[in-house]
Amino acid sequence: MTGAATIPAATAPLIDPFGRGIEYLRVSVTDRCDFRCVYCMSEHMTFLPKKDLLSLEELDRMCSAFVRRGVRKLRITGGEPLVRKNIIWLFEQLGRHLQSGALEELTLTTNGSQLAKYARDLKAAGVERINVSIDTLDPGKFKTITRWGELDVVLRGLDAAQDAGLKIKINAVALKDVNEHEIEDLLRFAHGRGADLTLIETMPLGEIEEDRTGQYLPLSVVRARLMDRFTLEESTHRTGGPARYVTVKETGGRLGFITPMTHNFCESCNRVRLTCTGTLYMCLGRDDAADLRKALRASADDGALDLAISEAISRKPKGHDFVIDRPSQQPAVARHMSVTGG
Ligand code: SAM
Ligand code: SF4
Repeated sequence: MTGAATIPAATAPLIDPFGRGIEYLRVSVTDRCDFRCVYCMSEHMTFLPKKDLLSLEELDRMCSAFVRRGVRKLRITGGEPLVRKNIIWLFEQLGRHLQSGALEELTLTTNGSQLAKYARDLKAAGVERINVSIDTLDPGKFKTITRWGELDVVLRGLDAAQDAGLKIKINAVALKDVNEHEIEDLLRFAHGRGADLTLIETMPLGEIEEDRTGQYLPLSVVRARLMDRFTLEESTHRTGGPARYVTVKETGGRLGFITPMTHNFCESCNRVRLTCTGTLYMCLGRDDAADLRKALRASADDGALDLAISEAISRKPKGHDFVIDRPSQQPAVARHMSVTGG
């Protein structure tokens, strides 16, 4: 193992011990959400005390420190990022890095519930492309999956986003027996609106009420089924994330697969994740983390923070270790996706 690397200088670009350049930061700005998706949260969640959260000003400082070190892509996520009070202010601040050319892309993953309200502001701040999570087009099933969500509100949000000129990618988690026979409908819906569709395998993150082995549907199965109906042509398209794409010949649209369970994509991982309390996770599937909040609050200048970031990146592991197996009911990682940020 080559993991015992020396810590790079506190101003150098971020290169991990395996030579991977870190160019992508995902930031969870809140662990709260107005939905309770069955694979993501339990119905009765205990959220973090508000005092533990980074302020919006601190989030701006954190993100800016990463941009200074070569991060080219920022994704704001959660929880539901758009339920955080004054969140548009953060987008507006971060927009300055787009204007300077330091940042290539500022983007967002959302459940869509607040898009009707914020789509124009997001576009004005410099956001060009967003991911909206929609697992089903059946209103009853949507309620079952999200527990608290309303499909028509999300669809109105989607319209508002497209009217505002935002490019859309729809994310759907493939769930056995729940939406597995609707994937074709989702594909036609997304591509019919000029949006990409990305399918995601469920990952064992955090305690939920249900048995995850019952939810898990390998995307290799979904892909094989789609191939009976569609011509899937390999695509070299990349968005900087873990999805691998095909073009669907019949619709002309793009279909992505995120397969942490059936295909390990760690070798090209260029990402790290920051939680709303300032903890940096160097890998979604591992517990090792760095407390950047302490470094940030240690002084008004960024010296200690820069050092802490270098030290954290020197500990980025080679890969994750997800397994969903029947005998063990324990999640691979105890924290929920809404904490680390999807
Ligand atoms: N609330 C926003 C949303 O739903 O898009 C952003 C945060 S959410 C945690 C980000 C993405 O993670 C969503 O597409 C969601 O479906 C996905 N997700 C949540 N829990 C997951 C899990 N255990 N396995 C796989 N994907 C998950
Ligand atoms: Fe909320 Fe997104 Fe998790 Fe659903 S997946 S509960 S919308 S954070």
